[in-house]
Amino acid sequence: MPSPEPPHPELSSTVERSRLEAQRRSDLVAERVRTEPASLCVLTGDRPTGPLHLGHLFGSLGNRVRLQQAGVPTMIIIADYQVITDRAGTDRIAEHVRDIVCDQLAVGIDPAKSTMFTHSAIPELNQLLLPFLSLISIAELQRNPTVKAEAAAAGISAISGLLLTYPVHQAADILGVGGTVVPVGLDQLPHLEVTRLLVRRFTEAYGPCFTAPEALLSEAPVVLGIDGTKMSKSRGNAIELRHTADETAALIRRARTDSDRRITYDPQRRPEVSNLVLITSLCTGEEPRAIAERIGDGGAGALKQLTIAAVNEHLAPIRARRRELAAVGDDVLQVVRDGNVVARARATATLDRVTEAMGMIY
Ligand code: ATP
Ligand code: MG
Repeated sequence: MPSPEPPHPELSSTVERSRLEAQRRSDLVAERVRTEPASLCVLTGDRPTGPLHLGHLFGSLGNRVRLQQAGVPTMIIIADYQVITDRAGTDRIAEHVRDIVCDQLAVGIDPAKSTMFTHSAIPELNQLLLPFLSLISIAELQRNPTVKAEAAAAGISAISGLLLTYPVHQAADILGVGGTVVPVGLDQLPHLEVTRLLVRRFTEAYGPCFTAPEALLSEAPVVLGIDGTKMSKSRGNAIELRHTADETAALIRRARTDSDRRITYDPQRRPEVSNLVLITSLCTGEEPRAIAERIGDGGAGALKQLTIAAVNEHLAPIRARRRELAAVGDDVLQVVRDGNVVARARATATLDRVTEAMGMIY
């Protein structure tokens, strides 16, 4: 097998330059979050493909709560149509929506400050797709590296029209409800670039209607699941917020480790052991290296005991709130029904501006 070619030096320096530029812009947004939070609007969300887990808690939910507490109006989309970008149906989708609502409320999302809504309840977002789709070529859509990576990760060989146009749907979601800040990891930047490109092209064609959103880069760690691959709703490897303390203990006891008895924090060479140390650290606030040193030659058994105790203690108040919310039954969805009214009013106002800019007033 030929070894993969190293990236062309010019290309990698271009990638590095654009990464630095993205970081610089993100730092400016972070400054605005501190100085003028009310002038911004965050758009963020999840696909209802299963209950949320520790990866979400440390990767995105914590950040969401901090933005909310900083006073930034926050729109949280439950992207139900995006579920069928990479799977064949909408199996158990209502249950997943309820789970996500309970998870978010349990971690501290406050419906008085943040708006939770479902994509399918806001048809105006889909109508925005028509002008947007006219502004981008198939070749440009096919070049998007994130779509390709997502298709590969889901084991999809034939990319559907919905998956191919995923970044355009995302643009409609963001711009439709007036999102100006989108918290993303580096890998999601190409999607947001499509939104910014569509804003430029729409403005050229029809005049100013939209503010181009900015990325707020998060330094969130990637949490691995008990099998050593990325913790994921759909891989059966997740410690879910809704699990009980006993279920959590059983899962962590089964987590993959390695044969070296001495515990160290070395994410490159010892990803599984280091992941347990990292999870412990995220729960307790103690430095990963200090945790590893304290366990020393105690082995994986001692590490797992510590991780179980840390996770269960950290999640105890969240889980208690979550149990109360789950006991409410379908009434917990009232938060989304209310959110849908707010989001729909915003999307209708956007669509009115768009049809007017396009001269479609008869
Ligand atoms: P699915 O299996 O359906 O793809 P998932 O568990 O990968 O689900 P997503 O809804 O794809 O979850 O992820 C939403 C966001 O949550 C991501 O963009 C990322 O910010 C965060 N996230 C998800 N999993 C992790 C993880 N293991 N570690 C850190 N952050 C994560
Ligand atoms: Mg995913």
